[in-house]
Amino acid sequence: MWQQDLHIHTTWSCNDPAVAPEQRIELVAAVQHARIVGISDHFEHLPPDDLESYARSVRGAGLYVGTEVDGAPSVAAAAAFPFDYYVYHCRDEEAEYAGLEQLMATERPVIVAHPHMLDTDLGRLPQGCLVELNNRYVARCDWRGFYGPFVGRFRFVLSSDAHQPGWLGQSVAAYVARELGIREHRVFAEPAER
Ligand SMILES: [Zn+2]
Ligand SMILES: [Zn+2]
Repeated sequence: MWQQDLHIHTTWSCNDPAVAPEQRIELVAAVQHARIVGISDHFEHLPPDDLESYARSVRGAGLYVGTEVDGAPSVAAAAAFPFDYYVYHCRDEEAEYAGLEQLMATERPVIVAHPHMLDTDLGRLPQGCLVELNNRYVARCDWRGFYGPFVGRFRFVLSSDAHQPGWLGQSVAAYVARELGIREHRVFAEPAER
């Protein structure tokens, strides 16, 4: 069982073609592949006037309610709703770093998603920031060169970025973390500690 998995999509990410129809909240909860599980459907795909239904469904399954925010344009609306945490796309642009600060100002955890896929400049992120090792994408980059120099500077979070039940795992991210000597930062307390 993995420690935590806070980057997971379900059928609420309705315009994402990678999401399988059987990837429902209830199934993700039933699989119990990690001790701490959160759902982070794309904010831009959620019904803007019915975020409550999404939150109720996720929380009803006993999971943390997150959302994946696609950069600065969505930040104000996403910050206005009481999500438990955010997964954030931070492209290498001034406005996107400002958006990150704005989300962090909510004082809820913000995980910078698969930065190597978006050319995020890790040198520009605030110290102690939560940076993701994303199981879906991490093998696609020179991860030693990209993440290695920042191991002591950030707290790292491992994620599956699962869009299908078969992706509910973190084997590649865990391998990279082991190689880099990263000890995963735990965002939420384990159920027994709450
Ligand atoms: Zn993403
Ligand atoms: Zn995602």
